Amino acid sequence: MKLLATRRFPGPAFDELGDVEILPLAELAGPRPGVEALFVGNETVDDALLDLLPDLRLVANYGVGYDRVDVAACGRRGIAVTNTPGVLDAATADLAFALLLAAQRRVVEGDRQIRAGGWKAGWAAGTLAAEVTGSTLGIVGLGRIGQAMARRARGFEMRILYTRRTRLEPELERELGAEYRQLDDLLAETDSVSIHVPRTEQTEGLIDARRLALLRDGAVLVNTARGEVVDEPALVRELVSGRIRAGLDVFAHEPDVPAELYDLPNVVLTPHIGSATETARFAMTRLAVDNVLAVAAGRPPLTPVACPRPAARPAPPAASPSPPPAAPPGRTRSG
Ligand code: NAP
Repeated sequence: MKLLATRRFPGPAFDELGDVEILPLAELAGPRPGVEALFVGNETVDDALLDLLPDLRLVANYGVGYDRVDVAACGRRGIAVTNTPGVLDAATADLAFALLLAAQRRVVEGDRQIRAGGWKAGWAAGTLAAEVTGSTLGIVGLGRIGQAMARRARGFEMRILYTRRTRLEPELERELGAEYRQLDDLLAETDSVSIHVPRTEQTEGLIDARRLALLRDGAVLVNTARGEVVDEPALVRELVSGRIRAGLDVFAHEPDVPAELYDLPNVVLTPHIGSATETARFAMTRLAVDNVLAVAAGRPPLTPVACPRPAARPAPPAASPSPPPAAPPGRTRSG
């Protein structure tokens, strides 16, 4: 199976792919017939790109979030799409919790103060931080990573509220110690909010100016999901006003970060590093490679988000393995 990868992805599993052409998409100058699999990480895969790859059968997305891949366009062309769910939950939840602690306990502000030579013997009365232990955390999107976040919060004796479209089974709610709330009620009732929904048409702009205004004074908003889920200009206004605090790993126009945030003491910024541990990134490569190898061998992909019918597109000639298994064209699966 002829494979194009946008870069060398980390970990030993990548070498199992054998002969791979490494080519950043920006350098893809013209049509590339013959390429059957594309290995991408957070790059845009749209109709314009697919037009250049007429023989493509698989898009292996390096990441659980596949919002930059036009899954419907792939479905129309009979191209399977896979992602890497599950193997990055711990890493991403660890970072979300780190951002929560850092934003609430003013860790970066203290670090900057010392480095600037301005040790002031801690915070003055009136500017003391709120305690994380025992506070109330709201989780928006209690899926794989949201649940990993809830388990961490339990260790901090936090009260946990959550929202999602489908309520969890009572047994799992009990195990996680999580109480269901409508989104608006959750925002008004929590000391901190951590966002873990995928970016979809429904979630883009989900946390808009009206909803941000529901947050209590001093509340912390943590976003390790996608920048587009929050109305970024509205968030910037709230942060500039100093009313709330935030820990942000994702932004609406990455790698651009709103310049107003650079000097604010009440926001902690990281450059989209939720899954950036060796364990998680190597495991993501392992899973993406296994998806490629499965499709190349004529087996179903392990973690499909879209799995078109074999009949949707003629199989390539010669010794190519059979196409991915039957499923409605363009079918999607969360995460
Ligand atoms: P997941 O298991 O699919 O969980 C997503 C949760 O969001 C589910 O509980 C889902 O429940 C809920 N949800 C979906 N649409 C919703 C809506 N309209 N309103 C309310 N809740 C909604 O996904 P995951 O593996 O935890 O990953 C979540 C996201 O994290 C990814 O899509 C990705 O964008 C992001 N991520 C970022 C990094 C990073 O490096 N910063 C790393 C990994 C992942 P219902 O379907 O019941 O609504």
